[in-house]
Amino acid sequence: MAVLVGGVGGARFLQGVRELLPEADVSAIVNVGDDVWMHGLRICPDLDTCMYTLGGGIDTDRGWGRVGETWHAKEELAKYHAQPDWFGLGDRDIATHLVRTEMLRAGYRLSTVTEALCNRWQPGVKLIPATDDRCETHVVVSDPDNPGERRAIHFQEWWVRYRANIDTHGFATIGADEAKPAPNVIDIIESADVVLLAPSNPVVSIGAILAVPGIRGALRTTPAKVIGVSGVIDGKPLRGMADECLSVIGVETTAEAIGRYYGARSATGILDGWLIHSTDTADVPGVEVRSVPLLMTDPPTTAEMVRQALDLAGVAL
Ligand code: GDP
Ligand code: CA
Repeated sequence: MAVLVGGVGGARFLQGVRELLPEADVSAIVNVGDDVWMHGLRICPDLDTCMYTLGGGIDTDRGWGRVGETWHAKEELAKYHAQPDWFGLGDRDIATHLVRTEMLRAGYRLSTVTEALCNRWQPGVKLIPATDDRCETHVVVSDPDNPGERRAIHFQEWWVRYRANIDTHGFATIGADEAKPAPNVIDIIESADVVLLAPSNPVVSIGAILAVPGIRGALRTTPAKVIGVSGVIDGKPLRGMADECLSVIGVETTAEAIGRYYGARSATGILDGWLIHSTDTADVPGVEVRSVPLLMTDPPTTAEMVRQALDLAGVAL
């Protein structure tokens, strides 16, 4: 099975997959559009959220970063007025970034580095970055320092520093032209029994994975059924700021609009089936829509969502 995932929503969905199918061969293709260099360290927020969540090291209240975290390094950096000062870099988390950065500097690919980090965390599913190349989401905004001018800032700056609360004109994926899918990603999609899209952010998580050349094509040609799960319920994302991202690209924050944005494989899109919440309705031409409870309250509840997605795909358990 292949699952396309972002961070918090993706990680919780994977907990449901693992709960339902503990023995299955599951490959999670993880968004790397949020990845960023800070203080000389390579940070991969979505890979780490998946790794810590599935490995039992996540801070469940925050939804990201390490449980039992301390912030001494961040405090010391602030005393040097080191920039950026708006990013939460915890002491325990820094160890992960140090190991990753050292391996990348030694020439290992991100997919190999991720495998090495997962030796410790044993997430129980294979975590694979969508690409080993730099393929980062940047955001075109009105420059706060130069009225009338526009400038592109890293997605993290838009999301964490400005909380998306800044005049925004569009997204740009830096490096997308030259990026290649990580080894095996295309094979995994083409040979999967089913492909699931987690209820992750459709623009900056799933959308950023689809921006890696070749991945969208593989979703269109795989013999497997492709089933998406809505992260929007009753016109609202459950957490995070998916509505801010969707409004930038002119898509309404509803399960129907997102389903139509992904589109049917029988037309020019990527979906065979679209799972929406019990209280929602959606008409997505060419796509089989099913409504079931979509609240990921705990892994057993999420496992039932996954079971419904597999049932919609006609995959026998
Ligand atoms: P991020 O990278 O940490 O922002 O996380 P993702 O992109 O993987 O997931 C964020 C999305 O998960 C948001 O758009 C939420 O609407 C969605 N989400 C969070 N919790 C739930 C839930 O319980 N059910 C569903 N269906 N979606 C959820
Ligand atoms: Ca993310």
